[in-house]
Amino acid sequence: MSVDGVGDYEAEDIRAIVSRILKDLGDPEPPLNLAQVRTLLDLNVGYYSTANTTLLQDVAARMKVAGKQVLERPMLLVEAVMKVKLSALWVPDSKRILIDETVPKPKHRWIEGHEVGHSVIPWHREFLFGDNEFTLDPVCHAVVEAEANFAASQLLFLQKRFAAEARDSALEFNSVKAFAKRFGNTITTTFWRMIEDRDPDAPVFGMVTAHPRYPEIGSGDNGEPIRYFIRSRAFREKFGHITPEGAFALIERNATHKKTGPVFDAMEVLCNANGEACEFQLESFCNSHALLTFGMFVKLKPAFARI
Ligand SMILES: [Zn+2]
Repeated sequence: MSVDGVGDYEAEDIRAIVSRILKDLGDPEPPLNLAQVRTLLDLNVGYYSTANTTLLQDVAARMKVAGKQVLERPMLLVEAVMKVKLSALWVPDSKRILIDETVPKPKHRWIEGHEVGHSVIPWHREFLFGDNEFTLDPVCHAVVEAEANFAASQLLFLQKRFAAEARDSALEFNSVKAFAKRFGNTITTTFWRMIEDRDPDAPVFGMVTAHPRYPEIGSGDNGEPIRYFIRSRAFREKFGHITPEGAFALIERNATHKKTGPVFDAMEVLCNANGEACEFQLESFCNSHALLTFGMFVKLKPAFARI
């Protein structure tokens, strides 16, 4: 199975590395305890502030952001952090993960998983990686960052454990919320894994967007309404022609004026690659930061159904 932005061989290596870590931890129950991961790997974590720079005394000579050298000359880490607007760092010499203490708490877990990824992927290990909002975004296409994000999701969702449990639950927002709590991860990252991993053979798409009736909820920095368009393997194969804009049009058409909680429930028709009309059940939920919507294949429209 290929992973966005990560080569097949690399994905296999990363799966094996994470699987070894989980095995060494005795195949733990969710939620994964990151303090135990750090102890096992002999890593430490620190929270820096640009007002208190004692943790940032190292020199950033070998720092890469999104896989590229960005500093023309060695400079103090504190200057580098401000120059490239970093939220977190992996510092190889001191085996240390540094996180900007002003980053909201719910994001720390993903960031830590990402930095653990840099620390355990053998071809990343020796670089000082600087991370900002761009590299920590699950759709970052810089290869090393996609690899670290893949390692983070493998770790935080305990590999196949999440998919196995998710398959026993219906695809609905109540299960997304329950799994977010059980695995200790955010609603958005859990929603993402539900779409991709719960049943890759079922055509399902998910969107993280602005709320069409309240664009101030969920719009990107530039006012862009669509943040993520997530697809199961079967949806990619059978509905590869559906664009993010096409899927968002369905949301615009159905959105109610409810600001939080369930926003709409609807049936819509999408054509598959063979031109057959397919019914999709759409459900949309607003968590006050963004609108999360999934669309799940139900059946071929009766006129097209094969007998
Ligand atoms: Zn990174």
